[in-house]
Amino acid sequence: MPLLSWDRVCLPKTLGGFSLLDLRLHNISLLLRWWWRLHHHPDTLWSKTARRLFGKRDSNLPPLAWNKKGSFLWNDMFSLRFYFQLSSISVVGNGLSTMFWYNSWGGTPLVYYNSDSKPVSRPCITVRGATPVWHDLLPAPLTSQQSHLFSVATDFNFTQQPDQVFCKWTTHGKYTASSTYKAFISSGKVLSPMRFLWKLKIPPSIKFFLLLLAHGRLLTQDKLLKRNIFCNQGCVLCAHTGCETASHLFFDCAFSIQLWTAIGFPQAGTLSNTGFELQDRLLALFATANNSARTMTLLATALWSLWLERNNRVFRNQSRRLGAIHQWIVNQATIFMKYS
Ligand SMILES: [Zn+2]
Repeated sequence: MPLLSWDRVCLPKTLGGFSLLDLRLHNISLLLRWWWRLHHHPDTLWSKTARRLFGKRDSNLPPLAWNKKGSFLWNDMFSLRFYFQLSSISVVGNGLSTMFWYNSWGGTPLVYYNSDSKPVSRPCITVRGATPVWHDLLPAPLTSQQSHLFSVATDFNFTQQPDQVFCKWTTHGKYTASSTYKAFISSGKVLSPMRFLWKLKIPPSIKFFLLLLAHGRLLTQDKLLKRNIFCNQGCVLCAHTGCETASHLFFDCAFSIQLWTAIGFPQAGTLSNTGFELQDRLLALFATANNSARTMTLLATALWSLWLERNNRVFRNQSRRLGAIHQWIVNQATIFMKYS
């Protein structure tokens, strides 16, 4: 069973991920180029061929209104139309190539319909971030959205200029696959930035440990219980008999508080009284370093040493005294700064 879900692993480092490539979203971002060529390069061979084969006859309707079924390639292309809708915004001029329900225009319409004819009885999509969410029933705010749309449409001033389509994810409005991929991959993810971890002079194994800790995925006893592995021994570092959690192990534990005090960070213990989430506590702890690389390395090494000590006591029945751990942290941090 993976410790981190794939979408978290693929998050950018700025959002606490590993910046691995999500091939599905990356492929979608690349394929969307074909949609943009249909709009911006209508005279290319691809656009002419697609319009001739799949466009509606005797009409200049935009590609979103073309036939849904066609060749194998076109079916796949058309299945990506939602991503194109999410990524594009139409600036309406004469209104001839903007679809009322399908294009994002005149602000940000939040509701799209599957059908022009019976929108109320058909499923619809609401857009939250860059992720379409399907609803079998109409959402409660539909009435206000619909009246808003109608008021916008009624008061709209058309011009003689042709409609234009811009990409939402770039400042210049032109489509780029990289900007679209970044928008898709980080959509809806609200994680505190942990980018500084990658800059620390520590071995990759410790960086990996810290990221698991920040994501709340370290296999402490409470996490093991969720996986039906019963090992409720309490904390092996102190006399705490409750279920071991990462918050306790690294911040609330009497042993850890003594260690933080020993290495010159007694304030780390007071973070336990703030009621923050674990990730917030970690950020607050590293914030005390004032961007000093040496201090941050020391803090990272201290967190790592607590985890090693816990594992040695659980799996090897070996323990070290506080003074020995303190000395080990100082020595290791110095080595990391020198050689990493
Ligand atoms: Zn403890």
